[in-house]
Amino acid sequence: MRILLVEDDETLRSGLASRLRAAGFAVEEAANGTDGLYMAKEFPLDAAVLDLGLPDMDGVDLIRSLRRDGGEVPLLVLTARDQWQAKVEGLEAGADDYLTKPFELEEMLARVRALLRRTDRIPQAAKHSEILNYGPLTLIPERFEAIWFDNTVKLTHLEFELLHCLLQRHGQTVSPSEILKEVWGYDPNDDIETIRVHVRHLRTKIEPDPRHPKYIKTVYGAGYCLELPGD
Ligand code: CA
Repeated sequence: MRILLVEDDETLRSGLASRLRAAGFAVEEAANGTDGLYMAKEFPLDAAVLDLGLPDMDGVDLIRSLRRDGGEVPLLVLTARDQWQAKVEGLEAGADDYLTKPFELEEMLARVRALLRRTDRIPQAAKHSEILNYGPLTLIPERFEAIWFDNTVKLTHLEFELLHCLLQRHGQTVSPSEILKEVWGYDPNDDIETIRVHVRHLRTKIEPDPRHPKYIKTVYGAGYCLELPGD
């Protein structure tokens, strides 16, 4: 498994790289966005860890470029505590998860593993107990697609898993902590902005009017509920 690591702080970068290598990953290191983009084109990647505050390039632009060139590679962004806005923009631009500095190396490793597990796991997801079809919705794990009212909807890995999670409990409210645990693979902290952003993405793909959702409902203070015709 090969990880791209883009971080301009040399001390932090070498710490992250050593921990990832010790865990058995191949690591490509870049100290700026330009090198990062170059390496992303040069090497087949399984995941990328990106600092949002880079010397030569807005980290959010880097995410957009990687999404454009590298498609679905799972992205974990690193943000400073005061970069709340950048964090949201990073998620909007296509990052899967983020960590706020300072963080423990073990936490970073857990997040990277969760990203990889997700990419890995979904194609074999069709176990008997799972619901892959209800009403107008059918999920196709092999292609990360949904059939939605006879239209094919292409999903990112993360959107797929989020929709899958909600579909298993359609008609019921699913709490943010259940979603975080199942989709992101870690125990909840108090921050549900990550979920909010990805729910918004998903709504733009399946809701006729994403601002007034008919199917993926927000249950204030409680979570989200996928309501399908027939529920
Ligand atoms: Ca930085």
